[in-house]
Amino acid sequence: MSFDADVIVVGGGLAGLSAGITANREGLSTLILERGEYSGAKNVSGGRMYVHALKSLVNLEEAPLEKPIVRETYEITCGEKRLTFSFYDPNTRNSYSVLRAKFDPWLAKKAEEEGVLVMYETLVHDAVRENQGITVRTSRGDLRAKLVIEADGVTAGVSRYLGLRSLSPDSLMLGVKEVIKPDSVPEEGEARVLVGYLNGLLGGGFMYVNKDTLSIGATVKVNSLQKERVLARDIVEDLRTKLGVEGEILEYSAHLIPYYGYTKLPPLTAPNLLVTGDAAGFLINDGFVIRGMDLAIGSGIVAGRAAKKILDLGDPSNTKIYEDMLQESFVMKDLKTASRAFQLMNNERLFKVYPELFCRVLSRMFTVEGERKTLMTVFQEEVKRDGLTLTQVVRDLTKVM
Ligand SMILES: Cc1cc2nc3c(=O)[nH]c(=O)nc-3n(C[C@H](O)[C@H](O)[C@H](O)COP(=O)(O)OP(=O)(O)OC[C@H]3O[C@@H](n4cnc5c(N)ncnc54)[C@H](O)[C@@H]3O)c2cc1C
Repeated sequence: MSFDADVIVVGGGLAGLSAGITANREGLSTLILERGEYSGAKNVSGGRMYVHALKSLVNLEEAPLEKPIVRETYEITCGEKRLTFSFYDPNTRNSYSVLRAKFDPWLAKKAEEEGVLVMYETLVHDAVRENQGITVRTSRGDLRAKLVIEADGVTAGVSRYLGLRSLSPDSLMLGVKEVIKPDSVPEEGEARVLVGYLNGLLGGGFMYVNKDTLSIGATVKVNSLQKERVLARDIVEDLRTKLGVEGEILEYSAHLIPYYGYTKLPPLTAPNLLVTGDAAGFLINDGFVIRGMDLAIGSGIVAGRAAKKILDLGDPSNTKIYEDMLQESFVMKDLKTASRAFQLMNNERLFKVYPELFCRVLSRMFTVEGERKTLMTVFQEEVKRDGLTLTQVVRDLTKVM
């Protein structure tokens, strides 16, 4: 049986390119199959990347990042009332705003310069396990490898073609985003988390400051969209209006986001298959951070290294090595840490009750009308008004901790 490469990577996004670059550096012949005309053509992201994983792959100075995020802002709204708090650290260089339409082609070029073959406009439409390897059926014909690294994003085609899993709306969020060019943007990079802006939908909004543009968007549980019968396009338009942002809309995009959590991850391996990035359900949203990009890069790097170990040991079906290496990496450790916070997105109170509750409490505390009550009394009264108990509120809030 002849093989077209040691490793075939399906998908040329962050996970796929990181896996391809790493496998190639490990001395494996590597082929990346990407359905888009170029990497980044089909990729959407709200655009804040935590760069710790990227640093171990490339020289950060060369990467086309937008702005370092030095200001973190939380905005909770209810009607016209707004509670805002910001954390400013001018020296941090932990995360940057990015535009994937710029970033992914750059990383793909890097991979190609290092000798990885990236085949564009190559759609994988089926996969079968045969003769100690996997055959992927593509729009350009069949290709075979002893090992396939799946990096085809949230819809995880390869895993589905191999019968390993199906997709369910319970495990998906929808991300919608616009890139807007206003007359001016703040000089420094900022990330805003917007709570209470989505008319009770289960999800949150975001705004990132890029070099000359703003990325504005939202991530919403798919079953909440179905329940409330809201159109994705209307969410971001409504958000932009509420924020009072005006300017030319350069890009609009909508994309699914995996939402599994550590305890419910889909299969990460099968014989001859390693699953990475969104295809593996790697996403963290713990109320403070949304992370998919660093997990995609991190799992891609681990998969590239694991591929070398697996092939050196002579049994490409022994993919447990990848799972073991993942468990040792920040990817699984951080997913595990965030697992409690995953329940947050299913808690309607967080989106429908608490923004109003906090606004009412603050409104009363900042109003003087004669008889003054302590913060605790006001809080208790407002909690009771919502038909809740203090224990329930504390229990909800401790899930973020
Ligand atoms: C609106 C939105 C906001 C987000 N905000 C953030 C954020 O601020 N920070 C963060 O870290 N993460 C964020 N994420 C998540 C992040 O974008 C993803 O986790 C990350 O892009 C996953 O990378 P990936 O390489 O696994 O998948 P993708 O980036 O989806 O790449 C998959 C690649 O595979 C290709 N492909 C798919 N199917 C096939 C096929 N059958 N044949 C060939 N090629 C195929 C696609 O064209 C694509 O290039 C956001 C996501 C969305 C949608």
